[in-house]
Amino acid sequence: MKAWLKFSPNIVNKSIISEAIKKYDIEFNILRANITPRGGKMLVEISGPEEREGIDFIEEAGIEVHPAVRVVKKDREKCMDCGACVSLCPVGAICIEDDWEIVLDDRKCIGCSFCVNSCPTKAIVLLD
Ligand code: SF4
Ligand code: SF4
Repeated sequence: MKAWLKFSPNIVNKSIISEAIKKYDIEFNILRANITPRGGKMLVEISGPEEREGIDFIEEAGIEVHPAVRVVKKDREKCMDCGACVSLCPVGAICIEDDWEIVLDDRKCIGCSFCVNSCPTKAIVLLD
């Protein structure tokens, strides 16, 4: 699953994630991270046969886990289908439909923000 993990200042220095990896043999793929001593958040992909148990473990340890069904959102009204974002997406999550509409695939998106920063009309925003 893809999820935002939120860290409060009192747990930011604890090795909860590495403990979960060792204990439940789960994989954490970090897609984005903004962590300081005052806390922060991380967008991750979590996988493995004991994924649920690992997530329960990190939640019990104090990390908030928020499933990220959508990482970016495109405003249809603002998008002018210029296509500038398509070639910038490193994972092919943006494509041009037969009717020339630009469409984002949430399952592929890794939240890199390249499309957000490149859009001339600010039609794409990063969710959290
Ligand atoms: S945030 Fe990155 S991965 Fe997601 S659609 Fe935009 S360019 Fe692609
Ligand atoms: S760069 Fe912005 S305006 Fe252009 S197609 Fe992408 S989302 Fe639409």
